[in-house]
Amino acid sequence: MKVPFITKQEVEEIAKTYPTPFHIYDEKGIRENARKLNQAFSWNKGFKEYFAVKANPNPTILKILHEEGCGTDCSSLAELIMSEKCGIVGRDVMFSSNDTPAEEFKKAAEIGATINLDDFTHIDFLNGITGIPKRICCRFNPGGIFKLGESGESVQVMDNPGDAKYGMTEDQILEAYTRLRDLGAEEFGIHSFLASNTVTNEYYPALAGILFKLAVKIKEKTGVSLSFINLSGGVGVAYKPDQTDNDILAIGEGVRKQFEEILVPAGLGEVKIFTELGRFMLAPYGHLVTKAVHEKHIYKEYIGVDACASNLMRPAMYGSYHHITVLGKENEPCDHVYDVTGSLCENNDKFAIDRALPRIDKGDYIVIHDTGAHGFAMGYNYNGRLWSAELLKREDGSIVEIRRAQTIDDYFATLDGFWDITV
Ligand SMILES: *Cc1c(COP(=O)(O)O)cnc(C)c1O
Repeated sequence: MKVPFITKQEVEEIAKTYPTPFHIYDEKGIRENARKLNQAFSWNKGFKEYFAVKANPNPTILKILHEEGCGTDCSSLAELIMSEKCGIVGRDVMFSSNDTPAEEFKKAAEIGATINLDDFTHIDFLNGITGIPKRICCRFNPGGIFKLGESGESVQVMDNPGDAKYGMTEDQILEAYTRLRDLGAEEFGIHSFLASNTVTNEYYPALAGILFKLAVKIKEKTGVSLSFINLSGGVGVAYKPDQTDNDILAIGEGVRKQFEEILVPAGLGEVKIFTELGRFMLAPYGHLVTKAVHEKHIYKEYIGVDACASNLMRPAMYGSYHHITVLGKENEPCDHVYDVTGSLCENNDKFAIDRALPRIDKGDYIVIHDTGAHGFAMGYNYNGRLWSAELLKREDGSIVEIRRAQTIDDYFATLDGFWDITV
């Protein structure tokens, strides 16, 4: 059972100052989870998590994670600037981007971020802009199909790296390290991202096995000893209540075994392990809180809420499941079946379809779970819907606003001075 980190009474109190809808994050949960991740990899000297900023680009969140020892993984100019404004620079920043504009490489180099090159041609592109920095990383794409476990087992992950736009082939990556060394690089890393939102303890160890073997091959063929291996993102969360959460301690242990078996005998026992988790770090510690405002009976039963897909795009975009709790009715039977909808003029603006829930009355507060990653972050202004506020529940239970809601003036700001154009 998924239990919200706020109660009906708390939301009633919060709503007096911050009207629904709003995103709220749980500082305690975020910190405890980050500590557990660091514990899971404490066997590795130099382990570091670089939080994938795209999952939740809020300065307060970045600073909390930085206090817990995490850096940032940025993929755009705005994310690099946000990290810099938070005082997170230098070796605390990875820049993992693709199809990268020149000005972004420039900014990344300026703040001392570790640049992760997505393509072989980016070596000369970067060299022409800033020169090749001393510390550099390359992104690997093994191609083909990445499969974990056999059908029929509980573990089933299949992604298609061969169709993905990211990274370099094995031949390219071998050549890349030689060329980068010739251009002055002295410290090297490798990065790969093969599957998203994996709900299994097997993904990171399997990926680590692939990258560790490749690291040995790189050393044999080019003489380059990698200093870090970045397992990137992809460790997921159990969005559905019947799924089993990943056990990060078991995942860390699985990676350690591969490390001992493959890297240590090859003389690569000093390699640092990096991660760039986004979803795993934040998703469960965010709720989208909304209020039931309408009830409609036609061919189906609808509950209309005051949030919409512009506050949380995942259900509309991917058909994603997000669990729903009706606050104050946690223990009532789920004997009603509803579509829970927003107000966009798009029929996919539904947070739930045919969902068994307790009877919902107008005015009920509803928690949409696991929205701390790719929730607010994917917001947009379609239909003139404005971004909500973001709030933080501190460890002492107090509430602080960490981003105000957009206003109508914000919406019109880019039209300042354009009202007098004659048509
Ligand atoms: C999206 C992304 C991540 C984070 O992925 P999660 O699935 O949220 O953990 C990490 N690294 C890169 C390069 C990404 O694009």
